[in-house]
Amino acid sequence: MMKFAVSSKGNPVSDTLKSRIQTYLLDFGLECDEEEPDIVISVGGDGTLLYAFHKYSSRLDKTAFVGVHTGHLGFYADWVPDEIEKLVIAIAKTPFQIVEYPVLEVIVRYNDGAKEARYLALNECTIKSIEGTLVTDVEIKGELFETFRGDGLCLSTPSGSTAYNKALGGAIIHPSIRAIQLAEMASINNRVFRTVGSPLILPEHHTCVIKPLNDVHFQVAVDHLTLLHKDVKSIQCRVANENVRFARFRPFPFWKRVQDSFIGKGE
Ligand code: NAP
Repeated sequence: MMKFAVSSKGNPVSDTLKSRIQTYLLDFGLECDEEEPDIVISVGGDGTLLYAFHKYSSRLDKTAFVGVHTGHLGFYADWVPDEIEKLVIAIAKTPFQIVEYPVLEVIVRYNDGAKEARYLALNECTIKSIEGTLVTDVEIKGELFETFRGDGLCLSTPSGSTAYNKALGGAIIHPSIRAIQLAEMASINNRVFRTVGSPLILPEHHTCVIKPLNDVHFQVAVDHLTLLHKDVKSIQCRVANENVRFARFRPFPFWKRVQDSFIGKGE
């Protein structure tokens, strides 16, 4: 029997919708299982789906996601509340189609021999210094590429390219392309300090390693989660072996979502 979980943004409208979805799915004979769901219905916005992704990130090969938005159209949350009866019927009539998007693997290693920390990001990882300018070497595929000085670096997934990355002037990448993007945050460029200045798109087999030059304490954000990492030796980023799986019940092409979100219908 198919098992589901519903996660809510936590505001009244999302909580009400969550209860309705739960009732409908139970009526269809599905089982509610918060621990090991086959499908997670996220109700709220893209931010809500980010939380759901992290809650179930250890079972990405077994759990599929679908998002309903109770605010504005999202990239992950692309169903509207009026459509939930349709959505619930489609979920109950399994099997459903799955699309897989790449995610970012981040490994933080430390100087003091502490155990490395591994994260998966659905949108991006951002690296900033705790105080002052971030100064790091950037290695690509084992070779020094540049020494970066500036506010920070953002390494994003294709589906995250429409989030923070876009605000940094990064390109929007179609999620069928297995790549990660490195975008700069306000690099210092003058006669002494030089970086490439353009966002870089790295293929699956190219690993990017960030190595601190002076300060070793960093503020590392993985999607919505920001942590302080002390005594950092390196931060390694690459396309993860895992993928995120979305349940698809109708066509809603990525470029259509980009158009709807950023351009609109016009006058
Ligand atoms: P938040 O600051 O409350 O919301 C950030 C906004 O980003 C929300 O409007 C969210 O949509 C939207 N968003 C999330 N993922 C997206 C995606 N893949 N494509 C387009 N828009 C997306 O923070 P949060 O809800 O915890 O989300 C964390 C995310 O905020 C981070 O992963 C980062 O991408 C983003 N962020 C962006 C900036 C920036 O653009 N300057 C700065 C910091 C963080 P919903 O309203 O649908 O939830």
